[in-house]
Amino acid sequence: MATIIDGKALAAKIRQEIANEVNSVAAAAGRRPGLAVIQVGADPASSVYVRNKKKACEEAGIVSFGYDLPEDASQEQLLELIEALNQDERVDGILCQLPLPDHMDEFTVLNAIRPEKDVDGFHPVNVGLLSTGHKSLVSCTPAGVLEMLKAYNIEIKGKRCVIIGRSNIVGKPVAQLMLREHATVTIAHSRTVDLPKICRDADILIAAVGRAEMVTADYIKPGATVIDVGINRNEQGKLVGDVRFEEASQIAGAITPVPGGVGPMTIAMLLKNTVQAYRQARGIL
Ligand code: NAD
Repeated sequence: MATIIDGKALAAKIRQEIANEVNSVAAAAGRRPGLAVIQVGADPASSVYVRNKKKACEEAGIVSFGYDLPEDASQEQLLELIEALNQDERVDGILCQLPLPDHMDEFTVLNAIRPEKDVDGFHPVNVGLLSTGHKSLVSCTPAGVLEMLKAYNIEIKGKRCVIIGRSNIVGKPVAQLMLREHATVTIAHSRTVDLPKICRDADILIAAVGRAEMVTADYIKPGATVIDVGINRNEQGKLVGDVRFEEASQIAGAITPVPGGVGPMTIAMLLKNTVQAYRQARGIL
């Protein structure tokens, strides 16, 4: 039976550490870190994410500023709000909850956020810094994956890592991080031929697909580490990952559950990025 990588417990520990850090740094600097959270429209899943992010901020002593725009707000309105927040000295981080309504262009909107305040790490400048191996704000889910591997002392250097999924928010940045950590990285995707065979080569298998329980035991090398980023509902409406946990945990060496794995780490990394942006803005290293 695999070691269960407990993202919930690890995230709680990190959030406590951040709260302690915020307390000591804010007392010296005379201002708490601030995160602006923008939501356009009222997508129920987005509302849950936004609520959780604001609550996590409060618990860590980070001030959260919420901005709710109606579904039919114009892109111009959103860009004006972002520009105001770019200039607002109380705001260290700006997060625009995705997905945006169809009439808005995601790339244009994310590009409008000042890279120094881009705590989601989606701005092309931060993406470029990551891919050229420089310090940057790294997107939260990939950063959470790396943090978990390190916390559980899972060797990355020289290991074969296969990532299923090539999205800009998970697959590609997690691949860059694993490369930075000296893994030999393969990115697989929807057009990959003979996916199970490629996955069976992996010492570390990261699934970021969005297809309920697609990854079966047949994809996993005995003893491999399996990181399940997926958040899906199965036919019974139950929350499941991309990996069939019951059978995968019989063959893997270590595995993340869903829920309680990567999900909680994402929020912890958002707080961490906000404090990093705050420190940089205040010149506190
Ligand atoms: P996406 O839809 O943008 O990308 C999915 C990727 O999977 C694509 O690159 C596609 O090529 C690949 N893919 C699709 N079908 C495939 C198949 N049959 N075989 C191989 N590859 C296939 O999704 P995303 O935004 O990267 O999210 C992926 C999953 O991770 C979703 O379930 C999402 O909810 C979840 N997610 C979780 C967190 C978290 O905090 N835990 C954060 C972001 C996303």
